[in-house]
Amino acid sequence: MWQVVGQSRAVSLLQRSLERGSIAHAYLVVGPPHVGKMTLALNLAQALNCPEAEPPCGLCDSCQKIASGKHADVQTIGLDSNNSAEIGIDQIRQVQHSSNLPPFEGRHKVFIIDRAELMSTEAANCLLKTLEEPAAGVVFILLAANGGVLPATVVSRCQKLELSPLPASEVEAVLSQRWGVEQQRAELLARLSHGCLGWAIAAASDERLLKQRDERVEGLLDIIGADYGVRFDYVPRLVGWFGQSRGLVQEILDLWLDWWRDLLLVKLGSGGAITNIDHEAVLVGMARGYRLEQIRSVINGIQATGEQLRQNANPRLAFEVLMLSIPEGRGG
Ligand SMILES: [Zn+2]
Repeated sequence: MWQVVGQSRAVSLLQRSLERGSIAHAYLVVGPPHVGKMTLALNLAQALNCPEAEPPCGLCDSCQKIASGKHADVQTIGLDSNNSAEIGIDQIRQVQHSSNLPPFEGRHKVFIIDRAELMSTEAANCLLKTLEEPAAGVVFILLAANGGVLPATVVSRCQKLELSPLPASEVEAVLSQRWGVEQQRAELLARLSHGCLGWAIAAASDERLLKQRDERVEGLLDIIGADYGVRFDYVPRLVGWFGQSRGLVQEILDLWLDWWRDLLLVKLGSGGAITNIDHEAVLVGMARGYRLEQIRSVINGIQATGEQLRQNANPRLAFEVLMLSIPEGRGG
């Protein structure tokens, strides 16, 4: 049974290829973080090696070993633990070497490259050589949030599978039916996940994720309520976090964006569609303090900041401009 939820297009395509024995040598699975790319990749690795009549059965020795990362022929490659920013050529050279050896215990060797967009240019070129001369029985599965960042030569060697976020109602149903999450919490997690089930499941079992989100909302409310002087004092903290992890700062900006989009929805009379349903009363009160154009302009400001940071603008300057883009002292 395929465990990935709601990705019926990708699953039925793979299922048909398996039945026909026409599996590609390489797949590129594209979709936002936590949407189910790794689950799909592991399911495919299971299906390729499961000896049962309807693979992947999920129960046999082979399926279980793959699920727990202990199968000798299924290898996951990602950022190594040394906090490096890219997947290096040495890692891909090892893959290349290993792909030329026969499977040890299964039928297929499967190499899953997580966050493939982080491969260095040398690593991507090395992988390309391997993809151009595929060894029999070897399957590569590249996972990426944005396939556009990969060299076109690599992409052209892969069959592309796109995974989309699920509707919030589907995430909510899975949380309550499969994971026993209580209804109100399931609804909140489903909205906050933006259809990425993996995040919702992680947040259902790890209290810290919601707590972290609550702290970030509080931080945002402090900033909205503060004058420019206090906000500028906050900028060095953002700059510091940015230095540690760009991903962390993007998560914070995404949360700010959610908040201001919620204000826009409330203002437009579509309060039922908001993300932060546990702060509905605050949002309704706050929306009264702004004109529509002001809310739109803050949304544009947050998006522009994200874009500038991606283009390596000076972070301090980008954050200061962002602070100025939020109208002063109208925190409701
Ligand atoms: Zn099995």
